[in-house]
Amino acid sequence: MVLIYDHPNNSPLWNQTHETVRFAPGMKAKVDASVGFFEPETYAVLGGYLNDPLRVTDVMPMPPASDGHGRGKASRSTVTLNAAFLEHYLNTSLLPFGKYFLGVMHSHPGGMNFLSDGAPGSGYGDIPSMRQHLEAAARLGEPWHTFIAPIVTYPGRSPRVDTWLIRLDSPSPIRAETVWEEEPSSDTPSDLDDILDLVCHRPDLVMSIIQRSDKLKSILRSHRARDEHQAKLVLKRLLDRRRGRV
Ligand SMILES: [Zn+2]
Repeated sequence: MVLIYDHPNNSPLWNQTHETVRFAPGMKAKVDASVGFFEPETYAVLGGYLNDPLRVTDVMPMPPASDGHGRGKASRSTVTLNAAFLEHYLNTSLLPFGKYFLGVMHSHPGGMNFLSDGAPGSGYGDIPSMRQHLEAAARLGEPWHTFIAPIVTYPGRSPRVDTWLIRLDSPSPIRAETVWEEEPSSDTPSDLDDILDLVCHRPDLVMSIIQRSDKLKSILRSHRARDEHQAKLVLKRLLDRRRGRV
């Protein structure tokens, strides 16, 4: 498997179809600290669910393949993916969780914000190598039909991300909008801290309120399933506090 991405000077005819690729909460920070920060050319594997193939739930920055002399095969215009690391990551962090590869994000420190082309089937150039990955998946019967290929330009303080899609039934890359999802809002920490203070200092009072209030009981019952995550958070904070006091 040849996994070299290089960038000959060419300007392919870009498909104008507009689609959207979403990144799960927390992924922007990972990109900014890895592919979006370092030079020379670097990359990160993108993972997610094949039944939701335009939503990236996992971003895994990876080192390039070794040149056999302790150095990584990467320059300002090319990076060679580390096939052994990719396979290990797939087997340990994606497949066991029902996930799969969705694509690869890589940087073009020189500022070229589109994918490089190359001879079909050569595996050289962004587009041919990405098509090869999809073709290999198709041969294996994997239902992976869209290769998400964001390009990061100007890595450093203000990296820019342009997202492209490669599909076997489309002769040229498809431009996609990039959306970074934010953490869902929950109770503010200060509200939670106030409640925890009350629980810690006056457990008798809290218990009597709960026992006396049928309305509160019904609220707790109706919120039980929906707020399970929040309840676990409260419990964890309580335990952390108690540990801190012992
Ligand atoms: Zn490239």
